[in-house]
Amino acid sequence: MKKNTINIVGAGQCGALVAIMLAKHDYDVHVYERFTDPRVKDAEAGRSINLALAARGLNALRKVGIDALIRPMLVPMRGRMVHQANGKTDFLPYGQKSGEEIYSVTRLGLNQVLLGVADDMPNLHLHFQQNAIGFDAPDRTVHVRNELDGSLYQIDAQPLLAADGAGSTIRRSFDGTDTFGGIESLLSHGYKELSIPAGPDGEYQLAPDALHIWPRGGFMLIALPNPGGDFTLTLFLPNHGTNSFDELKSDADISAFFEEHFADAAKLIPNLCDEVLNHPLGLLGTVRCRHWHDRGNVLLLGDAAHAIVPFHGQGMNLAFEDCVLLERIVTQHRDDWPTIFAQFEAEQLANANAIADMALDNYVEMRDTVRDPKFALRKELAFELERSLPQHFIPRYSMVMFHEDIPYLVAQQRGELQKALLEEFTNDATNLSEVDIESARAAVVNRLVPIDSVRNELSFRK
Ligand SMILES: Cc1cc2nc3c(=O)[nH]c(=O)nc-3n(C[C@H](O)[C@H](O)[C@H](O)COP(=O)(O)OP(=O)(O)OC[C@H]3O[C@@H](n4cnc5c(N)ncnc54)[C@H](O)[C@@H]3O)c2cc1C
Repeated sequence: MKKNTINIVGAGQCGALVAIMLAKHDYDVHVYERFTDPRVKDAEAGRSINLALAARGLNALRKVGIDALIRPMLVPMRGRMVHQANGKTDFLPYGQKSGEEIYSVTRLGLNQVLLGVADDMPNLHLHFQQNAIGFDAPDRTVHVRNELDGSLYQIDAQPLLAADGAGSTIRRSFDGTDTFGGIESLLSHGYKELSIPAGPDGEYQLAPDALHIWPRGGFMLIALPNPGGDFTLTLFLPNHGTNSFDELKSDADISAFFEEHFADAAKLIPNLCDEVLNHPLGLLGTVRCRHWHDRGNVLLLGDAAHAIVPFHGQGMNLAFEDCVLLERIVTQHRDDWPTIFAQFEAEQLANANAIADMALDNYVEMRDTVRDPKFALRKELAFELERSLPQHFIPRYSMVMFHEDIPYLVAQQRGELQKALLEEFTNDATNLSEVDIESARAAVVNRLVPIDSVRNELSFRK
């Protein structure tokens, strides 16, 4: 019997994973990717982007049985190492239970594994250097240019999954219509990637089990460990104005800026000036849509549907959660694409908006609030309440990062209530012994329904 065909645009993390999931359901899956195969030629040469993988992402990899392939590539990070301006460091753990850690992984390595698994499936076909250049709504077709020979052809969009990233050509083809109502909001801050190599004996030059942050109020530097002993750093600055990328135009500007704000880190970055001057300036932004699907023809997925700023480390995790959810709905309504796409949007759109907001909040927390002693005290109280009332209180960061069965929207809403409560009970305290814990516990039970009543069915934990 002829298998039903699904076409996917984009072989990034989302496109590759959803392709694997749907191929397992016996669809004939075709993936069209504009770039070369990253397993053949390092498509990210000069850029060693690493990402934080958390519970939602791991859950999705577990679902398709490839978590064991990924595990050796992961570097666990147990908390934030905050580097103060005076050179002092404070370690703030992310969670308090065993396994409450996040994992640094290189984007390239992860993509290579996903594409390797995809390539081994007989009914999954990867087409590289095939650029989707536009969507033709009346004909329900995508126009594709073969970058190998310049020829043009069309593919069917019944159905089409658009996993073509934040600047999605498919989404933008609908601009000016009400179909998606996509809005792209650029942040006025950008980023550049820098690097700290391994030490002379291959050792890490900073603590390897932490995500390092140098918070400086309006801007920050962060570092994530790589398996080879090196770190990838990301410098986040305003694009213009005081302490901005505009001001870093010469070796002298860069050396003076780092000496003033990041003197300890600067000593470990041998090619500092060269990297700041020559590495590309990355843009950051949020994409929000009113809708993600065009009847049963097209569905936006991953960053194409909901790009978010990277400050909660959740863009890829959310994209992977999309794949898990879509697969669950496909299992329920096989081939009924209008129903599948509508249900997907109904279940996930509010969650994507919630994590988009929380990611923006987190920029302020990472670059500024972590420096406030009250931040550590509220974290301590949150852990105390989680210990004594685990059915009622889980810190917001933990709900987002460690609990794939708590929807983002629930984390956001409970997080607001919890934040107010933590502020209320720490306002007049300087340490935990000065907090009225009994009253705080009573307030938690009063104000927050038990967490089990709001969990979803997306978890594949063994
Ligand atoms: C600085 C930074 C740090 C980040 N850190 C984290 C983190 O720590 N944790 C986390 O979870 N997320 C993080 N993210 C977000 C994460 O990178 C994205 O959310 C994730 O990569 C989205 O995957 P995707 O497959 O939807 O899109 P992409 O990875 O962008 O993939 C889209 C694919 O489509 C292809 N494509 C595009 N247009 C076309 C076309 N016209 N025709 C054919 N193919 C096309 C592209 O070449 C690409 O392969 C970070 C992002 C940034 C910028």
